[in-house]
Amino acid sequence: MSSAKNRIERWVRPAIRAMQAYHVPDATGLVKLDAMENPYSCPLEVREAWLSALRMAELNRYPDPDAAAVKDKLKEVMQVPERQSLLMGNGSDEIIQMILTLMAAPDHCVVAPEPGFVMYRILSEILGMPYFGVPLKADFTLDLAAMLDVIEQSRPAVVFIASPNNPTGNLFHRADIIRIIEHSPGLVVLDEAYTAFASDNCMDLLDRYEHLLVMRTLSKAGLAGLRTGFVAGPDAWLGELDKIRLPYNVNVLSQLSVSFFLEHYDVLEEQAGHIRRDRNILYQALERIKGIDVYPSDANFLLFRTRAQPAGVLHNSLRERGILIKILQEAHPLLDQCLRVTVGTPDENERFLAALQDSLG
Ligand SMILES: *Cc1c(COP(=O)(O)O)cnc(C)c1O
Repeated sequence: MSSAKNRIERWVRPAIRAMQAYHVPDATGLVKLDAMENPYSCPLEVREAWLSALRMAELNRYPDPDAAAVKDKLKEVMQVPERQSLLMGNGSDEIIQMILTLMAAPDHCVVAPEPGFVMYRILSEILGMPYFGVPLKADFTLDLAAMLDVIEQSRPAVVFIASPNNPTGNLFHRADIIRIIEHSPGLVVLDEAYTAFASDNCMDLLDRYEHLLVMRTLSKAGLAGLRTGFVAGPDAWLGELDKIRLPYNVNVLSQLSVSFFLEHYDVLEEQAGHIRRDRNILYQALERIKGIDVYPSDANFLLFRTRAQPAGVLHNSLRERGILIKILQEAHPLLDQCLRVTVGTPDENERFLAALQDSLG
């Protein structure tokens, strides 16, 4: 009898065997500022009303396959232009996977600025698509000349642009995004996961370009546990994507909960307002700390570089003091000695700052 190992070597593609599973660190007992979650739960009376709404859930039935009512409400709340369509995913991660599955072929490549969102690369690799990460400039703005050059050379099937970008937090210039759209031979996907915290967005460009899709997610705004994202764009593209989508990808509880929270979206907007305010307070506090360089952010997190202490040492010493943030040191050469902290409640932010001061001595 051959061992699992032998058969895996025989049958699992080498590209997959060479990969590591996406690792989520254990946050038990720690102040969790590593994953861009909204730190607030909702007010008790809203929570009660949500639980009543869930009583209607018919768990013995498959969910509504195209969730038309939820989509209409989403379009309205998220200000999707009238003539654009919508498709929902089990998080926007699943939408990225659908888009790449639709476009996958060994000679269809993917381009994205880097450092950027890691799922573009991971999912391209899984699907066997060549992936080109184009370095941002040192100040994390788009290197437009380099982007246009790589697009010209590689003729990518898909270009992903996250704006605000994760993990750098900055919004890219609209004019640069437009140039990239106009120079791309395939599909351009604008990933607007952090729009709730940003000063601008590009949803309106959908009416100008037929090879553009805009992705949004409810995760960062406060519903990470529901796993719901969506993509807006021309019906022709979404019709193709709908062939890739698994029939019941958004479950009954998520559909009901999303409908409920779209009716109470003011609650999430108010929380986003607090987070934006506290991001600016945290930014100013970090700016005053010697040995720390913090970068401007249009998202619910801040990227900073430590000159006082190696990032790994600082990361560990924060964890010993009960604070979990994200270390990005190894993620990209431009992120040397960088860490990323999610904006928490005022109290959590204070605890983070105290632990940071303490660690730096
Ligand atoms: C968090 C994040 C996502 C994924 O969001 P989900 O909807 O939770 O899957 C997508 N893109 C970017 C840039 C993100 O930071």
